[in-house]
Amino acid sequence: MTATEHKTDASTIVVRNPADGHVVGAVPIETSDTVAAKARELRLFQPQWEALGPRGRKRWLLKYQDWVLDNAERIIDVVQSETGKTRADASGEPTVTASLLDYWARHAERFLADEQPRSFNPLAMTKKLTTTYRPYPVVGVITPWNFPFLMPGLDTIPALAAGAAVLLKPSEVTPLSAVEFVHGWTEIGAPPVLALATGYGDTGAAVIANVDFVQFTGSTATGKKVAVACAERLLPYSLELGGKDPALVLADADLERAANGIAWGGMYNAGQVCVSVERVYVEAPVYDEFVAKLTENVRRLRQGQDDRNFKFDVGALATSKQRDIVQRHVDEAVAAGARAVTGGKPTGTGTFFEPTVLVDVDQSMSCMTEETFGPTLPVVKVADEDEAIRLANDSVYGLSATVWTGDKDRGERIARRLDVGAVNINDAISNAFAYDIPMGGWKHSGVGTRMGGAAGLLKYCRPQAITAPRVPTPTKELLWYPVSSRRVKFALGLLRASAARGVRRLGIAPKGAAR
Ligand code: NDP
Repeated sequence: MTATEHKTDASTIVVRNPADGHVVGAVPIETSDTVAAKARELRLFQPQWEALGPRGRKRWLLKYQDWVLDNAERIIDVVQSETGKTRADASGEPTVTASLLDYWARHAERFLADEQPRSFNPLAMTKKLTTTYRPYPVVGVITPWNFPFLMPGLDTIPALAAGAAVLLKPSEVTPLSAVEFVHGWTEIGAPPVLALATGYGDTGAAVIANVDFVQFTGSTATGKKVAVACAERLLPYSLELGGKDPALVLADADLERAANGIAWGGMYNAGQVCVSVERVYVEAPVYDEFVAKLTENVRRLRQGQDDRNFKFDVGALATSKQRDIVQRHVDEAVAAGARAVTGGKPTGTGTFFEPTVLVDVDQSMSCMTEETFGPTLPVVKVADEDEAIRLANDSVYGLSATVWTGDKDRGERIARRLDVGAVNINDAISNAFAYDIPMGGWKHSGVGTRMGGAAGLLKYCRPQAITAPRVPTPTKELLWYPVSSRRVKFALGLLRASAARGVRRLGIAPKGAAR
């Protein structure tokens, strides 16, 4: 489905199931005026939400968590209906969202606590120093179509937990899950600090025009446009963009586990995961054996659209545009000498593309340089670990990587040489489930991070510094008017004494100054 395939008239987006093309719902295309009005309303209610404090907000977040779990099966139905995912792939969305609600609700008070450091500078020693974290009033969260319920959860929940109001703009391809997401918040009677803006890129642009912080997930190309729009308004932003995540399979790896893990890491959600395995480098001594095992695993995958019976492993792609990108990458590789040892073409039904393993691939092919975001695994033979690292780092992207080895120390050594935001050793995608460590891309894969303990909440806050007297205050501070040589020398002498290294530099007045 392309953007225009979704459109019926100037005011509505028709949503279709990409697995079979049937219409599953419709949402309005919201104008910039409507978006501005929604942001104004959020701004009105946000101070009360902030004033509730983390404990008051926790009550609502946990109530919402109950709603998500109580409605999980229906939410999964909706996710499947607009993405063409398998039941298994869709099932994680509400459950992980509930777990994220639990995490942020229960940790927010500690993560947002004021800090009261002792002053390093003797001139501020008489002050009580406080850093307090105040939320951006309205956060804009712009999400893509690959996890239409979970993606809003990943970013909206910490923003709400931090005390911000949120204006959510989902992808036009999959807005129905976001409708559910916001509906749940309303249904539990929570304060009106979460609103939805549906539409195309223009609606996204209107969100940026009306919020105080932007959290964007999607393609690198759109991410750059978002960054420019934010710069125009001097807005802070965080971008989670595309990836081309390498897997490095070393000769000492458990090949059975590597072939299982890489098949899953490459095919999960039909390869439409920002941190999915997109290219594989295998040390020469185990190349043939690994390729045979991987090919067998991928060939066995059952593809199709199931319902609540969990019958299939791999589902459809979210749009026909996405299927065409996958096809182009495979076709270009094959034209340049690569071979599809399994898969290699669309199935002919909906947007399904066969799970594919490519060999005889080289680093210059589009399947190795551009984000594919589909069910393909191109595999390259390398001489050794150094070549694997060099080729893994030879990319404009730097989201995550996996290393497969029997030696954990070697794995960690290699991790520290990879130019990516996350490395999973002997596992794939596992960092995405670890809320306590940051998830973010280097290079063209993003700016900023999400999750990562306190940092995941503090990103939605403006630190505010407060100083207050710690001791009884005199009528005048040392540096106040009128200037007095004695008081200036005393104050700066204290500072100089604390900063001086060696007795020679302890002198009260700066070198050359009149005494
Ligand atoms: P986009 O980056 O185009 O869209 C992501 C979100 O941004 C959507 O909600 C989109 O709205 C919105 N948007 C588009 N233009 C603007 C704008 N000018 N200002 C503000 N918001 C805007 O992703 P696509 O859906 O087109 O996917 C394209 C590629 O992105 C994929 O092939 C894949 O490579 C990558 N991708 C990466 C993801 C990740 O998790 N890192 C997830 C999804 C895609 P609308 O959809 O209505 O245009």
